[in-house]
Amino acid sequence: MKLSRRETAELLKNLDGKILITTHKNPDGDAIGSSLGWFNFLKNLGKDVKVVYRDRIPYFFDFLPGVGEVETKERLDERYDWVIITDVSEVRRTGFEEIPAENALVIDHHITAQPFTDFAIVEPDISSTCELSYELMLLIDPGRITYEVALPIYTGIFTDTGSFSYNNTSSRTLEVAAELLKKGVDPYLVRFNLFERNRINRFKLLELVLRTLEFALGGKVAHITVYRKFLEEAGALLEETEGFINYPRSIAGVEVAVFFKEIEENGWKVSLRSKGKVNVAEVAKRLGGGGHRMAAGYETEGSLEKVKGELFKELERELKAV
Ligand code: AMP
Ligand code: MN
Ligand code: MN
Repeated sequence: MKLSRRETAELLKNLDGKILITTHKNPDGDAIGSSLGWFNFLKNLGKDVKVVYRDRIPYFFDFLPGVGEVETKERLDERYDWVIITDVSEVRRTGFEEIPAENALVIDHHITAQPFTDFAIVEPDISSTCELSYELMLLIDPGRITYEVALPIYTGIFTDTGSFSYNNTSSRTLEVAAELLKKGVDPYLVRFNLFERNRINRFKLLELVLRTLEFALGGKVAHITVYRKFLEEAGALLEETEGFINYPRSIAGVEVAVFFKEIEENGWKVSLRSKGKVNVAEVAKRLGGGGHRMAAGYETEGSLEKVKGELFKELERELKAV
């Protein structure tokens, strides 16, 4: 059942019993920000709540309140009365095979969302799950939006909007950010923790990855690749490739940037970024993933050559149409 904001707020206010919050695998700022924002907010409301992720939290999010209480597990083995799933709508993308709960609620903003739960609120036009979460919290009890809630919520909005610069940034997004600053959020603290603590290994990795830069489809597509052997050579983690895709996207004449990430032998995570003309959510959806018009992704198997061939065929079709 698709819920309105008011219905979702009512539901969240009245939740009782054991509550679990989870999000998508390889959690990003919006996933972590929204789940920790809700964790701290629901605790403020006196609820019994816990956060479990499938994957580890990248170190640059270690400053967020509540991060130390997050558990990372391969399987959800306890039973809960309610599960809240943020920033994702498909059970496969949570990384868990099963969500063991009587009731589940999805809070998401993906245009390709197909919620698997009985209850869901999905707003594809809003910047982030964090912005949507803030609006819901205002309806529930604005007095409980403490600093511990505001900081993760701000962080998720900041990351999903590319530091308030992508076109998912609305005037309301900036108003919400202003309200969060009034709760004590220091914008430089967020920027510092996310972007000013790089390890030198990240630059070793960037050097290797930039050497793979190539163009396709008459220069309209630029792509880069990270192989597992690069991670070893640089002593870096996959999460340290965050932001690398901005380099191919930033090139004049490029409409779509692609980042091929080797997850395992013949297993690939593909990230897509558009400058606006091509709807990459559609392309990713056709290849088994999803996302937003200008940022999307999918996972696939096979040789890199095959993966490239399939993707470029789809992109060629899209580029012809623009
Ligand atoms: P990323 O390239 O991982 O930063 O993801 C960009 C956008 O695409 C995010 O909004 C993701 O939620 C979405 N996305 C990435 N991978 C997938 C996937 N396998 N399935 C659905 N959506 C995805
Ligand atoms: Mn996300
Ligand atoms: Mn998001």
